[in-house]
Amino acid sequence: MRYEGNIFRPPNERRSYLLQVTIGCSHNACTFCGMYKDKRFRIRPLSEIMEDIAMAKQTYGTVRRVFLCDGDAIAVPTADLLEILHRLKKTFPQIEKISTYAGPKSTLSKSVEDLRSLHENGLTTAYLGVESGDDQVLRETCKGVDAAQMLEAGQRLKNAGMNLFAMVLIGLAGEERSMENAVATAEMINRMHPDRLAALTLMPVPGTKMYRDIEQGKFRVLNATECLTETRELIRHIKLENLYFASDHASNYVPVKGILNKDKAKIIELLDHGIAGNVFRRSQWQRGL
Ligand code: SF4
Repeated sequence: MRYEGNIFRPPNERRSYLLQVTIGCSHNACTFCGMYKDKRFRIRPLSEIMEDIAMAKQTYGTVRRVFLCDGDAIAVPTADLLEILHRLKKTFPQIEKISTYAGPKSTLSKSVEDLRSLHENGLTTAYLGVESGDDQVLRETCKGVDAAQMLEAGQRLKNAGMNLFAMVLIGLAGEERSMENAVATAEMINRMHPDRLAALTLMPVPGTKMYRDIEQGKFRVLNATECLTETRELIRHIKLENLYFASDHASNYVPVKGILNKDKAKIIELLDHGIAGNVFRRSQWQRGL
């Protein structure tokens, strides 16, 4: 198999065949993200992608799950994405799930009809990096959309029938607006209705603007207690039923997960123990990703 540069995928895509349809991220400007800094964004030629699918057939035989890399495969023109989906389904008849990261700007460049057509032709799951529901945080981190646009992107993916996995980033607002950020993010999630929500915790990445801001004293990274308190506030304000919530990524200080709102009290209790220091909290080196 052939890949260009570092490849990233969500933790629960560890069993998926990774098909690189773009190189890098079409936005590539978020101040906290270093994932694709070494790549100039481009869409791979269809002929190369089809060759890769044939190689995967030879290498793996049967494939049931596919994750489309890199950071924003939804940026591929709809007609080309449909061809890729058709080829995947023809090559791997047992396929059950095809997923992708969905950049908010690229998602908004497609109509609900385009997205629905992608879903009906096999694109089952979209991972949306919401990060925050707060306009100021989205602006300061150069996410490329404001809160209303981020909500619209999530709602379009949901209305298209996709399984929507939203990801938010604890600590992104820094110290002063931590609680406001938690409430605004919960309110956006309440309106977006994702199927799953993951709360990761900010990890400064060398080479990013945020890292330089931290070095220059312009931004302070929240400590473990503050991050857990922000997570608690986020959970407290989520009103959805049957939302799978996970904050058990390697970046999180205390791993918690469950179904909201059914498990809300239990999760908050565990976070309270984490805030009080009564349960194991990952140390900084254990959070090294
Ligand atoms: S949109 Fe996602 S992958 Fe692209 S720069 Fe922002 S966080 Fe990174």
